[in-house]
Parts: sequence; C-alpha cells; structure tokens
Amino acid sequence: MSFSSDVKTELTGLIPSACCTKAEAFGMLIFGRAFSLSEISLMTEIQAVAEHYSTSIRDLTGVTPELTCSKAGNYKINIPTRAERLKILEYFGYTGKEITLRVNLSNLEQTNDDCCSKAFLRGAFLVCGSVTDPQKDYHIEFSVTKAKLCEDLMQIIGDLGLRCKKIIRSNSYVVYAKEAESIEDYIGTMGANNAFLEVMQTRAMKDIKNQINRRSNFESANLSRSIEAGLKQVAIIEEILSKIKLSDMTKDLSELCSLRLENPDISLDELGKMMNPELSRSAVSRRFKKLEKIAAELKTR
Ligand SMILES: [Zn+2]
Repeated sequence: MSFSSDVKTELTGLIPSACCTKAEAFGMLIFGRAFSLSEISLMTEIQAVAEHYSTSIRDLTGVTPELTCSKAGNYKINIPTRAERLKILEYFGYTGKEITLRVNLSNLEQTNDDCCSKAFLRGAFLVCGSVTDPQKDYHIEFSVTKAKLCEDLMQIIGDLGLRCKKIIRSNSYVVYAKEAESIEDYIGTMGANNAFLEVMQTRAMKDIKNQINRRSNFESANLSRSIEAGLKQVAIIEEILSKIKLSDMTKDLSELCSLRLENPDISLDELGKMMNPELSRSAVSRRFKKLEKIAAELKTR
C-alpha cells in the first residue's frame, strides 16, 4: 500500500463526534466524483474509503448506496435513484438545481476547535487528495474539478491556518502544499496521528543526514582550499626559479621550495614537519610570504 492509502485508511478509522460526522461525509460527497441530481457517485481504489463513504451516507440519510468493485480493484459507489439522490442533496441543504456548486458552510458547525472544518478537510482528502511518501518528497494535494469548489476549499484550508497554493493541471484545479512542516500540519489537522509521527520522524532523520552531508562538504571544501593554496605556492616557486637558480637561494628557502615542489598537495603543518630542523606552521607561512615578496620583486626587474 502507498503512503497515501495508509493515511486514508487511518483516517477512515477515526470516530468523529456527531457534528463532525456530517461535515466529514459532506466533504466526501461534494469532492467525490459527482454530487448532483443526475449523479451522486465516488470512484476509489481504497476499500476502506469506499466503505466509509457508503456507511456515512447510509447512517446519516438512510439511503443505502450501491457498491461495486471491478476486477482491477476499483470501487464504484453510486446512488441509484433520483429520489434517493434528492434526499441526500436536501440533507446537506441543496436542491439539485444549483447552477454553480458551492460549499454549503451550514454543514460545518462553528466550534472553538474548528472540529467540523477539520472533518470536512478529512472528507475531501479521502476522496480527492493524495500525499507523497515523505521518504521521497513532501507533497500533499487535493484535485478538484470545479473552480468555485476549489476556491471554497482553499478558503477553508486558509481558515484552518494551513498554507496552500493552486495550479491547474489537465482540467483540474490542484490545491497543494510542499514543505515538510505543511505536510505535518495537514496530516495533523486531519487527525492521522500515526502518519503525523511518521512524517515527523522521517523529517528528523533527513535533517540529521543533511547535517552530516553539510559537514563533510565543509571538510572537503577545507581540503580543496589547502590544495589550492599549495598549487599557488608551486606557481610562485616556479616563477622565481625561472629567474634564479635554486642553489642561489638561501638554504632555508631552497629547502622549502624543493619540498613544496615535490609535495604540492600537503598542508603547511605537514610541510613544516618535513623541514630540517622542523618548523611550525606559522614559520612555514612566513617563509612563503618571503618567497611571494621575492617573486614580486623579480617581476618588476
Ligand atoms: Zn464538529
């Protein structure tokens, strides 16, 4: 099972309070495949969602939906008669004659903890939502076929304090969020606590891995800086040696020059230890300063 179906299956197992049961069912119905006098239906690959949709409609309105499953494992839930469809529409405050379908907010009770808005979002997610496995990516979306319904959904999402964006993708309005924190917020708001913990743990693990990567990038950056410095010194020495002979230099400088030419990639510390007598890092550095000065003087001659 995908992460998305895990989340959905977890959500169908919640036991909402009475007010929220209606709000959740309403979310499933209005964002399902069809919600009109000519058709009320849902298509889903997830058995738990199919059953939850049917049971909610039956418990609330007394109408028993028709549930079929194709060989490929696609569930279709359908309300067979017009009279039954009208009964469901009326239960949620619709006549079936609406020109533009909008979210009837009277189905969502205004409570302090926004329980019904959260339940409504949960219902919407069950039928038109999906969430990517946090191991791969952070992405949650709701795919809505009607522009006005998409607007209403975005309004409710915003009122819940969640962030979202919208894109149009092949005749659908897609409401989505991408940041890890947002995915956690959505999943937490909808009430999928197990999935919430899973996303949080995955994020924590990713953060640790990133930190380790950043550190080793930093170390290799340091390493390449010292190689770069070494190569620069080699260039200076070669420049000097194009004008004067190594044997014409003082002993301490000539020794350093030949050691550097033989070991272009080692650090100043290591270079100092190879000198006879041994030199500190800063002493080596001072000698390179001297060499730089010589090179500069030779240039002006
Ligand atoms: Zn409620």
